[in-house]
Amino acid sequence: MTDEIVFSRPFRAPGELTNLAAVLDSDHSHGDGAFTASATERLRGISGAGDALLTTSCTHALEMSMLLVDVRPGDEVVLPSFTFTSAAIAVVARGATPVFVDIEGPSGNLDVGQVAEAITPRTRAVIAMHYGGAAVDLDALLAVTAEAGVALVEDNAHGLGGRSGGHRLGTAGVLGTQSFHDTKNVHCGEGGALLVNDPALWERAEIIREKGTNRARFLRGQVDKYTWQDEGSSYLPSELNAAVLDAQLAAFDEIQERRLRVWTAYAEGLAEWAGDVGATLVSDTVGLEHSAHLFYAVMGDHDGQQGLIAHLREAGVRAAFHYVPLDSSPAGRRFGRTAHQLDRTAAFSSQLVRLPLWAGLSDAQIERVIEGVTGYRPVRVA
Ligand SMILES: *Cc1c(COP(=O)(O)O)cnc(C)c1O
Repeated sequence: MTDEIVFSRPFRAPGELTNLAAVLDSDHSHGDGAFTASATERLRGISGAGDALLTTSCTHALEMSMLLVDVRPGDEVVLPSFTFTSAAIAVVARGATPVFVDIEGPSGNLDVGQVAEAITPRTRAVIAMHYGGAAVDLDALLAVTAEAGVALVEDNAHGLGGRSGGHRLGTAGVLGTQSFHDTKNVHCGEGGALLVNDPALWERAEIIREKGTNRARFLRGQVDKYTWQDEGSSYLPSELNAAVLDAQLAAFDEIQERRLRVWTAYAEGLAEWAGDVGATLVSDTVGLEHSAHLFYAVMGDHDGQQGLIAHLREAGVRAAFHYVPLDSSPAGRRFGRTAHQLDRTAAFSSQLVRLPLWAGLSDAQIERVIEGVTGYRPVRVA
């Protein structure tokens, strides 16, 4: 049997091992050393963020965000049901209530109209997620959050370096979060970042990240000792993670070029099949500005999803779906609420098939995936 094509494989960037050896040979492998500084500079360049802090994960950056925008028990935070658990648990960690809204359609992005309707006097923030690195309607969303006087936080785990109109993803809200988990475009095993777009939040962000202390100011010589100042946790990553991340960010353009190549090959190779079987491809719904984080087909029904995944597995290709809607999951029902019935989210989640998309896929592997998909015909009950 031919080798299985895995769903995701982390990119290997030149210089990773040299960087790691430099950290191990130094006396500094805890956080905020030279590689953290260098990776942060690269991240600011790629994202366009005024300020950024590396964190241990995107989940932790979301936790920091909820502290920074002062979410308190009894408050509400509006977010899509179709997203990873991280945003919801960050809300629940503050004793607040996640209020779930639907997606607008096959882009998988939240419905801005429902966000507007879900906002109440208790709403403190909105957490938006740019699905696949294709932007939510930021102009409309910013108008809604500004009108209501609530903070916008962008979970930009999929969209590093992405743009939309005049916006750079992760920098439109007061805070943006990135993930460097090894399934993301750029990785360091586990890691993340907080993009701090509102300068008024900067000093407190540094304190929250460093166990509630002003150690960052101390290290810069701005105070002569560091003390406990505020809430917080240990949200800074080790230099070992930063060393790998620095090498990965240095290769960002190459990673993106390689991923976009796969994405474009799927879009071209699957268009006719999608028309024949009545599937919608991600390339039918997003414009040119996206981060090539994922490629998917939305099949007409749940059987189509299960059928295509099983068919691909037979052909040695791993495909996947994701995001069991948060509002219908056990903890979502316990901790959250919905303003509406989220029918589009339920349908999308039950019909979605994501294809392998990683920087190292060869031409032959891309071809095998396309052949696998186009060889599938959903069974239609007459
Ligand atoms: C991966 C992911 C996260 C979590 O990232 P971690 O760095 O693993 O905490 C959060 N949100 C979204 C949308 C993600 O895809």
